[in-house]
Amino acid sequence: MMQVPLLVGPMLEHAEKFFSKKEVISQTHDKLHHLTYADIGKRTRRLMSTLENLGVQKGDRVGTLAWNHHRHLEIYFAAPGMGAVLHTINIRLSPEHIIYIINHAEDKVLFIDEDVLPLVEAVKDKLKTVEAFIVMTDKAELPESALAPLYSYEELLHTGNPNFEFDKTIDENDPAGMCYTSATTGKPKGVVYSHRGIVLHSYALGLADSAAISESDVSMAVVPQFHVNAWGTPFACTWFGTTQVMPGPRFTPKRLAAFIEKFRVTITAGVPTIWLGLLRELDQGGYDTSSLRAVLCGGSAAPKGLIQAFEEKYNIPFIHAYGATETTPLVTLSRLKSYQQDLTVEAKLDQRSKQGMLVPGVKMKVIGSDGEVAWNGDEMGELLLRGPWIASEYYHDDRSEQAFHDGWFHTGDVVTVDEEGTIKIVDRTKDLIKSGGEWISSVDIENAIMAHDGVFEASVVAIPDPEWQERPIACVVLHEGFAEKTSKADLLEFLRPQFAKWWLPDDILFFDEIPKTSVGKFLKRELREQVKAHYNM
Ligand code: ADP
Repeated sequence: MMQVPLLVGPMLEHAEKFFSKKEVISQTHDKLHHLTYADIGKRTRRLMSTLENLGVQKGDRVGTLAWNHHRHLEIYFAAPGMGAVLHTINIRLSPEHIIYIINHAEDKVLFIDEDVLPLVEAVKDKLKTVEAFIVMTDKAELPESALAPLYSYEELLHTGNPNFEFDKTIDENDPAGMCYTSATTGKPKGVVYSHRGIVLHSYALGLADSAAISESDVSMAVVPQFHVNAWGTPFACTWFGTTQVMPGPRFTPKRLAAFIEKFRVTITAGVPTIWLGLLRELDQGGYDTSSLRAVLCGGSAAPKGLIQAFEEKYNIPFIHAYGATETTPLVTLSRLKSYQQDLTVEAKLDQRSKQGMLVPGVKMKVIGSDGEVAWNGDEMGELLLRGPWIASEYYHDDRSEQAFHDGWFHTGDVVTVDEEGTIKIVDRTKDLIKSGGEWISSVDIENAIMAHDGVFEASVVAIPDPEWQERPIACVVLHEGFAEKTSKADLLEFLRPQFAKWWLPDDILFFDEIPKTSVGKFLKRELREQVKAHYNM
């Protein structure tokens, strides 16, 4: 066979050629833009020449601090398209982490959304490598800013060459992108994505038994482009000529619901908290969501009640998926096999609320205390992964060896595997509750509580216990109007038939809000502190 490198730039070239009329619909601060892939192609080419003029060379890191919109999409292709490295930075991280990440990656230029400028201005004196700041704005005039040199994205584009060529001499194993984990503990860790990894991962997103993204879809990635490249969807969608709807800065559930209706969105992706918010909005009534064929949900466990609400109340198919920054991210998706269609409704829901089966291309091993666990849905072990889009190390980081050794990525996720090969995430190693020498899955209890009608969100954490070592405490946010009718005793009664007695939480605390990480996951470290403070521990 021919040795043809798998490169990111030519994915957009394909869209320019074959899907030139298809659209990217993009919300920015000031307006809604409609651009075709022909437009995006020309603008990306201009951007590549602009990057070159700014002194960006092969291998240099191009940082972005931006929401989901077309300009961000253009950088997705321009940086790797000319051999540089797209480095998406999570704008919700602490200033301290943002400084660390930019310096550690040695970003040469930074592309910044207008509303993120103050964040960068506040840390500018600590940035060691950045030579130019580019503000992504619709306005003709540059905003007042302490950053220098500061350029306007659109003005730079204006001077760029619309016929600039994608670099085809890049090695497919060269870096195309990078992203730092959101780091619930310690400093963020950098993961580098190769061209080859991104291209193969895009194929995986197109498989019929995976997300099945195709030309006929209208995709709205709600998961931020700064969080594992919006799960790779912008790459796959562009390549396949899929219409893309980009919800832009500071979107609300209202905007998401309105966009789904207006643009007839067929597939969308995000974390469970986003979908809980959207459900609340849909419950207000009045939205037509009949176009949706798939809501992809990952990043943390999707509660059964959430899946049920989308499917039974709104007839929207819900697909639970699993992955991580280190895995580009798609690893598993939860779909029923053909012969599982005859299961009872309850059994099907049970199966689909698990994280699912490996997409072809990725391999796994699950290691318990006595080696590989049996596929019996019961034995727990750590999930190890290997594959062409699984990272092999952290970028310039001496913590690599802990997670990557013997050719496997050690995920830190504890899982069971059933007879069908479906994995269920029981917990993260650090969140498992150790009670009397046994393990309790905080995730299982959370999911069970969240199936209660009155409960909006629930998170379960361990507190130290002199007798049992640790005991679970449930932290619950109730739906509006349920405070009077839902007591701690009601919830415990609801859980009792579902668990062994020693799994039941020792206490249930009611919260207005559960602290979350920058990407919307329960921030258990912080929650544990709040719970301990409640008990004066
Ligand atoms: P961080 O490690 O900073 O949280 P990631 O986004 O890379 O950032 O998180 C990956 C982790 O998220 C996985 O290792 C796993 O613990 C969790 N996760 C992802 N998807 C799911 C899911 N569907 N169910 C449960 N946990 C999930």
